[in-house]
Amino acid sequence: MGPTQFEIKDSVALITLNSPPVNGLGHALRIAIVEGIQQAQNNDAIQAIVITGTEKAFSGGADIKEFGTPKAVTEPHLHTVIHLIESSTKPVIAAIRGVCMGGGMELALGCHYRVAHPKASLALPEIKLGLIPGAGGTQRMPRVIGVEKALNFILSGDPIPAIAFKASALIDAYFEDDFVGQAIAFAKQLVIDKKPIKKIRDIKIQYPNHESFLQFSRNTVKTVAAPYPAALKAIDAIAAAITKPFDQGAATEREYFMELMNTSVSRAMRYAFFAQRGTSKISDIPSDTPLREIKKIGIIGAGTMGGGIAMNFINIGLPVMILETEQAKLDKGLAIIRANYENTVKKGKLTPEKMQQRMSLIQTTLDYSAIKDVDLVIEAVFEDLEVKETVFKKLDEVMKKGAILASNTSTLDINKIANFTKRPQDVLGMHFFSPANVMKLLEVVRGDQTSKDVLATVMKLAQTIKKTPVVCRVCDGFIGNRMVEQYLRMAGFLLEQGATPSQVDKALESFGMVMGPFRMSDLAGNDIGYAIRKRRLIEQPHLKYSKFADVISEAGRFGQKTGKGWYLYEPGNRKPIPDPEVDTMLVKFRADNGIKARKISSEEIVQSCIFALINEGCRILEEGIAQRASDIDIVYLTGYGFPVYRGGPLKYADEVGLYKVVQKLEQFYVSTQDEFWKPAKLLQDCIAQSTSISGS
Ligand code: NAD
Repeated sequence: MGPTQFEIKDSVALITLNSPPVNGLGHALRIAIVEGIQQAQNNDAIQAIVITGTEKAFSGGADIKEFGTPKAVTEPHLHTVIHLIESSTKPVIAAIRGVCMGGGMELALGCHYRVAHPKASLALPEIKLGLIPGAGGTQRMPRVIGVEKALNFILSGDPIPAIAFKASALIDAYFEDDFVGQAIAFAKQLVIDKKPIKKIRDIKIQYPNHESFLQFSRNTVKTVAAPYPAALKAIDAIAAAITKPFDQGAATEREYFMELMNTSVSRAMRYAFFAQRGTSKISDIPSDTPLREIKKIGIIGAGTMGGGIAMNFINIGLPVMILETEQAKLDKGLAIIRANYENTVKKGKLTPEKMQQRMSLIQTTLDYSAIKDVDLVIEAVFEDLEVKETVFKKLDEVMKKGAILASNTSTLDINKIANFTKRPQDVLGMHFFSPANVMKLLEVVRGDQTSKDVLATVMKLAQTIKKTPVVCRVCDGFIGNRMVEQYLRMAGFLLEQGATPSQVDKALESFGMVMGPFRMSDLAGNDIGYAIRKRRLIEQPHLKYSKFADVISEAGRFGQKTGKGWYLYEPGNRKPIPDPEVDTMLVKFRADNGIKARKISSEEIVQSCIFALINEGCRILEEGIAQRASDIDIVYLTGYGFPVYRGGPLKYADEVGLYKVVQKLEQFYVSTQDEFWKPAKLLQDCIAQSTSISGS
């Protein structure tokens, strides 16, 4: 079957969009719709036209595979298709089931009537790509649902069930059973009743006080969505819908849409969208690799991570068996899981029944024989190679053949852990981030001997539990923590040289990081970094660190958990309060070490810390630790609070210009003599070949 199916049902033409998976409005589908409309126009026996999709999708919008290709801009454009539909002399009815989004929604708005399944999911999600609807969405939507609702709909970009629009002119009728049959009957009745051809464009928006509302909206958006130009443009486009004739308003919308397409923000957001989808592709593993069946999970350790990890699986209905060394630890772990769910219940986001259902999926044990039958076991015990050795040797002894053995280690060598067993092919790392039930990122660490089906199975499972899995080869710190170590190292030197923790944090937060490095360290616990630095001193004695971080840790200032770290914290409050005592300690530290404080600009802070991420990210790519630049960027977007509107460290490097980045790195090298600052070879290669790093 082609991208559409054309049928004649009595006097009604039924055009069924049939372009899997979601009727993306690619070139072939657009042509087929145009042909269908023309065929119906030219057939005197046809009196009305129904356009529908599949049960799953009316249309998910633009065909994302076409983005950036010539096909995306080849006629018939979506505008042309919508214009043709709207100017049809025979009534065109959109019959909407499943998802109806973006361009799909705009196409439906171009139809004369719209009927929907109550549960159809409607959205104009362009804002999530830094854009506004570009095919009339901002002009037609306010005409049918009102200005305020349309603005909210466009600014949130979130899907809303069709039934929520019951009181508006958006949907003319709702059908459930025999959906298409009823839509055809609706079309016939229109003809019998000689109903007019309704064009949304002809509706005049009545909104006397629009100026004050729009001004209020602009002010709100300026504060909450400051870095995102699309939000203001959406308001301006809606203003045009109110004040200008339809065609002029539509031209304004188009102009804004094109402007936004060329912003670095939208480029970054579109890049991130594709990057996110790309992480599951593994170059040497075919997508049809047979997967192992995962029905039961075992977790070793009921601490911070074990409990959070367990929640991911019981949330999707998989039973979990947790093993610990003592009953008291199991009880404590279980109590934390329960308290987490109770909070969600209190917020009204989970019913008490569902909570019970989930809790009933957890079993606990102190005995390895109770986990021998699980399909996947995830170890989350202390970060100590000897403890891991004991656990993995035991697992090797008891686990059934074919079970997958995963470690949640943050720093230890997965190859060593795999070699504690006689089945290294079944071992890999699943590096969850804390809180493991919340954070989306999962680094899936591929050991030298991890078998392909084990990796493919875990990648698929990660998606099932709604994580963003990124494949990573074995190295110290994997992708995210290896990079963050350099970032924190540079932040430490900035303090030594004259900055304060809050100055550094503010500069990076203004750049867009969710949390500056010192607030982040206080949250994670400064003792963790302290332990890593002590290890580095033995393993890589030449690597320089600011000793001031050690001074802070040695003073017991571990961060939020001890009420003070780089900042002060009031009991029960996570708000960091700059601490004069830290400033005094800094002054003393500089004096003791003969360092003369200098003034450090925000620009230098950002370049020092962010360019450190870029340089280390490039090395990770060079070494083949990450498969692609966009995977590294996704690690930073989903796990480290890097601003999505900058696309991730490597995309940002391309936006800044690689030549400029390298020049700065060289300057840092000259002034510090720190080998780290020598520009990564990949950066130099990309400049020499005039290519980008992120491939975008
Ligand atoms: P934790 O101290 O909170 O919990 C560890 C648990 O393991 C404890 O309850 C302990 O009783 C139990 N345990 C120790 N030895 C055991 C054994 N032999 N058999 C069964 N249980 C045993 O530690 P955590 O923060 O949950 O960290 C666990 C692992 O996850 C570590 O490898 C750590 O590096 C990694 N990790 C931690 C974080 C984090 O932010 N905390 C993030 C990512 C990864």
